[in-house]
Amino acid sequence: MPEESKKNPYLTALEQFNKAADFLNLNKETRFSIREPQRILEAPLPVKMDNGDVKVFSSYRVQHNTARGPAKGGVRYHPDVDLNEVKALAMWMTWKCAVVNVPFGGAKGGIICNPKEMSENELRNLSRRYIYAIYPIIGPKKDIPAPDVGTNSKTMGWYMDTYSMLVGHPEPAVVTGKPLSLNGSLGREQATGRGCMYTALEAMNYLGIDPKKATAVVQGFGKVGYWTAKLLQDQGVKIIAVSDSGGGIFQPAGLDVDTVLNFKKNTKSSVKKYSCGSSITNNDLLLLPCDILAPCALENKITAANASQIQAKIIVEGANGPTTLEADDILHKKGIFIVPDILANAGGVTVSYYEWCQNIQELYWDENRINAMLKGVMGRAFREVIKIYEKHGKQITPRLAAYLLGVGRVAEAAGARGLWP
Ligand code: NAD
Repeated sequence: MPEESKKNPYLTALEQFNKAADFLNLNKETRFSIREPQRILEAPLPVKMDNGDVKVFSSYRVQHNTARGPAKGGVRYHPDVDLNEVKALAMWMTWKCAVVNVPFGGAKGGIICNPKEMSENELRNLSRRYIYAIYPIIGPKKDIPAPDVGTNSKTMGWYMDTYSMLVGHPEPAVVTGKPLSLNGSLGREQATGRGCMYTALEAMNYLGIDPKKATAVVQGFGKVGYWTAKLLQDQGVKIIAVSDSGGGIFQPAGLDVDTVLNFKKNTKSSVKKYSCGSSITNNDLLLLPCDILAPCALENKITAANASQIQAKIIVEGANGPTTLEADDILHKKGIFIVPDILANAGGVTVSYYEWCQNIQELYWDENRINAMLKGVMGRAFREVIKIYEKHGKQITPRLAAYLLGVGRVAEAAGARGLWP
C-alpha cells in the first residue's frame, strides 16, 4: 500500500479545521466546542451468516456537531472503515451542511465489512442489527442516516423499517436516500453527482472554459461517479476515462457513460474490461490531461506522490477527502482549481434535506422543483466561496475559503447558543 493511502483522515480533518480556526481567530471556547465529536458510539454487531455461523462486525456512529441542527450523514460499509475515518467524515459533514446552509449538523457511520462478499440476507441482518445498536441516538430530530460507500436505497429501506418497528409507527424521516416507494425523494439518487456537475459548470464558467469543448476524467464509477459522469456528458462534456476499484478505461474519443454502466452491470466486472478503449490504472487515470478531474471514490487518492503530475485544470471532489494536505499545496502552486469536497459533493445532503422536509410535512415535491432548488443552492454556495477566495486575493485555496464559510457559520451558531451548563 502506498504510504499516502495509510494517512489518517481524521488528522487531515483536524489540520484543515485548525487552519480555518486560526484564520477566523476563533476563541478557545468556540474552537474546542466545535472541533471534537459530540458523541461516539461503537457497537459490535453479532449477525447470523447464511452458513449458520455467527460473525461479529465492528460498527460506529459519530455525531460531530449539532449546533446548527440534527446530526446528518451517511453510513459506509467497507473493509477499510475505521473510527478515525468515521470521525473525519462526520466532521466534514458538519462543515458541508454549513457551506450549503442546510440546517443540519454532521454525523457519519461505518461498519467494517465487505458487502461484495455478503448475501442480501446477511446484509439485511447486519443493517437491522446496526439500527438496533444506534437506535437510542438517532431519530428525525436527532440524527438522520443516509447512504455512502457500500450502501444504497435498499439499505435505507431496511433502516427505515427497523427504526419504525422499534418506535411502533412508520417513521420515514429517520433516514434519507430511501426508495421512492418508502417516501424517498425524487432526485436524491442523482443529487450528489448533480451537485458535482453544477459546481463543475460554475468552475468552468469562472475559468472561461466552454463545457462543450471540455473533457472529464472520473475516478470511481459508483453512485456519485456515475451520475457526475452522466450529467456532465448531458452538458456536452466529453468523458474520456472512468474507473472503479478494479481499474479504469480510457477512450480519448469519448465514452458513452450509459453503455459503460450497462457493460459493468451485465458482465458484473470492472469497467477496465470494457472493450471500446484501453485499460488504465487508477493512478495513471488521475494523470491524464483533461479539463475536469472528478475523484469520486475514496480518501487519499491524490497525494504528494502524484499531485505534481496531475494535468487537469479543475478538480471537482465528488469523494470526501480524496486529496491529502501535501497534495493540496502542490496543486494550488500548480494553479489547478479545486472545488473542495465540502462544496462539490454537498448536493447529496441538500436533497437529503429536501427529502426530510417532505417526510416531516407528509407531502411531495416534483423533480423539476427539487433540481431547480439544488441548482440555486449549489450556485449560491459556489459564489459565496469564491467571494471569500477573492477577498483574500486568491492567495488562499478555494478549500480554505470553503472552510472559512462553513466553520465560520458553525462557530457563529455555537457562539449564539453558548456553552452549557
Ligand atoms: P459507491 O459505493 O456507490 O461507489 C464507490 C465507487 O468507487 C465504486 O465504483 C468502487 O468500485 C470505486 N472504488 C473503490 N475504491 C476505489 C479505488 N481505489 N480507485 C478507484 N475506484 C474505487 O459510493 P458512493 O456513494 O458513490 O461514494 C463515493 C464517494 O463519494 C465517497 O467518498 C463518499 O463518501 C462520497 N459521497 C457520497 C455521497 C452519496 O450521496 N452517496 C454524498 C457525498 C459524498
